[in-house]
Amino acid sequence: MPANILIVEDEPAIQELLSLNLRQVGHNPLQATSVEQAQVLMRETLPDLIILDWMLPGMSGLEFARRLKSDEHYKAIPIIMLTARGEETDKVRGLEVGADDYVTKPFSPRELLARVKAVLRRRAPQMTDDPIEIGGLRLDPITHRVTGNGKEIELGPTEFRLLHFLMSYPERVHSRAHVLDKVWGDRVYVEDRTVDVHIRRLRKALETSGHDTMIQTVRGVGYRFSAR
Ligand code: CA
Repeated sequence: MPANILIVEDEPAIQELLSLNLRQVGHNPLQATSVEQAQVLMRETLPDLIILDWMLPGMSGLEFARRLKSDEHYKAIPIIMLTARGEETDKVRGLEVGADDYVTKPFSPRELLARVKAVLRRRAPQMTDDPIEIGGLRLDPITHRVTGNGKEIELGPTEFRLLHFLMSYPERVHSRAHVLDKVWGDRVYVEDRTVDVHIRRLRKALETSGHDTMIQTVRGVGYRFSAR
């Protein structure tokens, strides 16, 4: 699943380098050169990750990180701080305000992509390309294939995303609103009942291999993927 990654960086060369590399691995970069611009973009699209430069014109990256982490709506978004300084005290300050990771300039795009992947794996596993296998059900985000006990299962694109999301957080219960937010996107207007329709389709598709029982309804709450 492509992640929306907001890059807040005022140096055009670095901004372009990051966007290009993120796009190449299938992510969707959002570009801002200041905190102000970042705030405008965030009203449109809630990013899955923010790459935040420390030194920015106007409000500093550090101050922005501090504000995001104290805001209910934004505090769950992981942040990777970029900085030209390599001092240990800066690193500590960055992590203190709640940044998930910290990269010192100059860095190689490869190094940064590795950090992005690690943070997404930790904070939003459905955003990575790693195949998931639970109880004989296997989903491969790269080949877009799902198999049940080795046999191919045909899924529509929405059912695929839905299963990917549910399998990324096994045993956890998700409300319909949360599923909508994560699978359909933050700003899309769809009714809660839409989730039920796609859950039904997903179960139907999983029936052939008997994996349909893994998609469980938790009454009054929502849905859960469980191998138990
Ligand atoms: Ca800068």
